[in-house]
Amino acid sequence: MFNSILIANRGEIACRVMHTAQSMGVRCIAVYSEVDRNALHVAMSDIAVPIGGKAARESYLQADRIVSAALANGAEAIHPGYGFLSENPEFAEAVEAAGLTFIGPPAEALHVMGKKDAAKRLMSQAGVPVVPGYHGSEQDPDCLYQEAKRLGFPVLIKAVAGGGGRGLRKVEAPEDFIDALKSSKNEAIAAFGVGDVIIEKLIQKPRHIELQIFGDDEQVVHLFERDCSLQRRHQKVIEEAPAPDMPSEVRKAMSDAAVQAAQAIKYKGAGTVEFIADASKRLRPDGFWFMEMNTRLQVEHPVTEEITGIDLVEWQLRVAAGEKLPLSQADIGIYGHAIEARLYAENPETGFLPATGKIRRLSFPSEARSDSGLQNGDTVSSWYDPMIAKIICHGATRKIARERLKQALTQTQVYGCVTNLGFLAALVDHQDFITGNVHTGLIEENLDGLVVKTTPAPETVAWAAMVALGIQENSNKAGFTLWKGLEQTVQLQHADDFFSVSVEFEGRDQVRLNINGHQVFAERLAGIWRLNDKTAPDAVRHDSEVYVASQYGVIFSVIDPLAQATDLVANEGILTAPMPGQIQEICVTIGQAATKGQRLAILGAMKMEHSLLAAHDGRIAEIYVTVGQQVELGDSLIDLKAEEASA
Ligand code: ADP
Ligand code: ADP
Ligand code: MG
Repeated sequence: MFNSILIANRGEIACRVMHTAQSMGVRCIAVYSEVDRNALHVAMSDIAVPIGGKAARESYLQADRIVSAALANGAEAIHPGYGFLSENPEFAEAVEAAGLTFIGPPAEALHVMGKKDAAKRLMSQAGVPVVPGYHGSEQDPDCLYQEAKRLGFPVLIKAVAGGGGRGLRKVEAPEDFIDALKSSKNEAIAAFGVGDVIIEKLIQKPRHIELQIFGDDEQVVHLFERDCSLQRRHQKVIEEAPAPDMPSEVRKAMSDAAVQAAQAIKYKGAGTVEFIADASKRLRPDGFWFMEMNTRLQVEHPVTEEITGIDLVEWQLRVAAGEKLPLSQADIGIYGHAIEARLYAENPETGFLPATGKIRRLSFPSEARSDSGLQNGDTVSSWYDPMIAKIICHGATRKIARERLKQALTQTQVYGCVTNLGFLAALVDHQDFITGNVHTGLIEENLDGLVVKTTPAPETVAWAAMVALGIQENSNKAGFTLWKGLEQTVQLQHADDFFSVSVEFEGRDQVRLNINGHQVFAERLAGIWRLNDKTAPDAVRHDSEVYVASQYGVIFSVIDPLAQATDLVANEGILTAPMPGQIQEICVTIGQAATKGQRLAILGAMKMEHSLLAAHDGRIAEIYVTVGQQVELGDSLIDLKAEEASA
């Protein structure tokens, strides 16, 4: 086994690889970009090497720097993860040329499988069923149009260099073909630098079923299939293993074809053979076709690990180090069922726009496997993939795995960033998913039902208001009864909804709230707050945001009365009380000079201290209140006169 390896990646996959490698006693060298200085993969590593700027092309795609870092730090091999350089044959060649081992298939396999046209030609020759289509090198638009007509519409245009759904265009009618071709080629040139395409017959109501295969110098085995039919814009969202309702003769035919495909190119290491299957009827042995081969570890590999009990990264390391595969085909079995959901920082309500934010707390139920590259305090930036984590649940049956995943999604907490958690839960609960009636159009066809605008329940809003007031931390303290009977208003915003919450304290353990006409009674029993008898969810306030861990995470902005008060000061020079409260401290004296941002007084309101700051430079002209005085909203407190501009 290797003594040390370099991991040419970041995020969850870098952490995933290190987890296994370190458990095998292999020293791990991480590389990181400027934005990833404090990332989890850096924290986990034994050695960490900076490789450049924020953009991937300035860092994680800098093949030369990565190879140099490996050589300089004594690595014997490089694991490329997925994405970035993982399927780049020139990188694999450069690694080998430097005397290092590329933890992946031979560069020739990356070469052939990297181009969809060459891959399909090769697979046809090897006797693997391929989607009917045109895979030739002719790129003249008229010829391609004739080929499309020969196949019969609808067709799919695919970039030969494609990946991640880019360059893919569905064409329903002949008159749309030329425009679709142009747009596919443009996208392909932008993404891959090559505009060549192939044409494929569009399979109606298809399922995406892929086979995990593994090869060493002697044999190729398969580790059964994964169903990745739940896709949005050709991107996988939920994956599972094994495929639901898979007849044994189809499993046999598909795994034979996958192994045959891998043997045809003398494949070594981990790979995935993707098939498209006709799901208009039950799966059948002559109803699936080779789509492409991914020559790397796949994002969704954990579901295979869960059902086979095999650590795929361990196998990658062993095979790369020259060992034989630890098991032969007969020893590999399926144990139960596993489902993975991809948790993304994105907002389903705004058409799945990627979201950013600082993660204040990330927590997953311990019953689920969660693969993540983020930790508390990390920023989800727009520099890389917005995936927060993969949540994987296993069970003896599909039903149990699905129920566990549902429960795990309910218990997952991401504070600080909008996520697709609610969307994933709706998907897991969709009738067609429950019955295993999956196909690649399921999400798009049911989008309206799956993306439901979150309407915060009155209890959720009430709790947010109480947390905004600091009730959680502070109401234990003595002296609370001082405020009995005090009514206070908290303004909250969630998406486009505004909530004006009146909060009335009836005692130290009882609060009555009114949210746009809805009554909520909060009471603390045995030290725990309950809202209309329901246990309050976890919640936290950070600056002007309150995150409530119910309804798959609701984020409120607290419309800060202080911010308004600061504006008032700026306009009028007289600092007024931003809320009812008690003056706890006056930090200045009449005649004193004050600078912008300086603390002038402290107001205690609802057991929270509010520093009242100077909005501008000036001199204290008047102080209208004394320490201990009770003030009402809008009462004048201090007059801060702006100084005349000095010469
Ligand atoms: P497929 O290539 O069949 O779509 P995947 O869903 O596993 O398979 O990956 C989609 C593409 O995006 C791949 O090229 C993969 O390398 C890349 N990718 C997916 N997720 C990430 C991620 N979190 N970070 C970097 N690259 C990713
Ligand atoms: P990429 O390299 O971008 O992952 P693929 O060839 O793997 O491209 O196709 C991506 C997705 O597009 C598939 O998972 C499937 O949902 C859909 N797709 C691909 N080929 C076909 C086809 N011939 N008919 C219908 N859908 C297809
Ligand atoms: Mg694919």
